[in-house]
Amino acid sequence: MTTKKLFLFFPKCETEKPIIYHLVKDFGLIINIFRAKVTPDEEGYLALDVTGEDANIEKGVEFLKTFGVNVDPFNKSLRWDASRCTHCGNCLTHCPTHALKVADRQTMRVAFIEELCIECLACVRNCPYGVCTSAF
Ligand code: SF4
Ligand code: SF4
Repeated sequence: MTTKKLFLFFPKCETEKPIIYHLVKDFGLIINIFRAKVTPDEEGYLALDVTGEDANIEKGVEFLKTFGVNVDPFNKSLRWDASRCTHCGNCLTHCPTHALKVADRQTMRVAFIEELCIECLACVRNCPYGVCTSAF
C-alpha cells in the first residue's frame, strides 16, 4: 500500500460529479481530503492523500484525467516567502506541527520545514506580514 499526496483541479462542469466516490468504489482507494474549495466560478480544488495499491492509484489518476481533472503530485499550496519574514515569531504558537519553528536560538530566526506542513493555514491567518500565503 502506498500513500500519495495529490492536488486536483476540477473544471467547472465537473465539480458536481461523484468522482471521488468512484475512486473509492471502483479503485479501492482510501481518500483523505485535506482541503477543498469551490471558487466563485465553480471550479474546484482538492488537496488529498490517496492510499492504495500503486496500480490502482495510477488507474484512479487516469480515471480523473478522463474528466479533464488536472492532477498534480501534491505541491503544497502554502507559500512561505523567506525574504519577507521578520522572524517576529507570531506564527510559532499557531503552527500545530512545528513546521514553522525557531531554527537558531541565538538569532531567533524562524524557518519553514515544508515536510511537516499539513496545510492547516493557521499561519496564513496569523502572520502579520503576509509571509505565508495559500494558492487556494
Ligand atoms: S499551514 Fe499550518 S502546518 Fe503549515 S506551516 Fe502554516 S500553521 Fe504550520
Ligand atoms: S508570523 Fe510571519 S513574519 Fe512572523 S515569524 Fe512567522 S512567518 Fe515570519
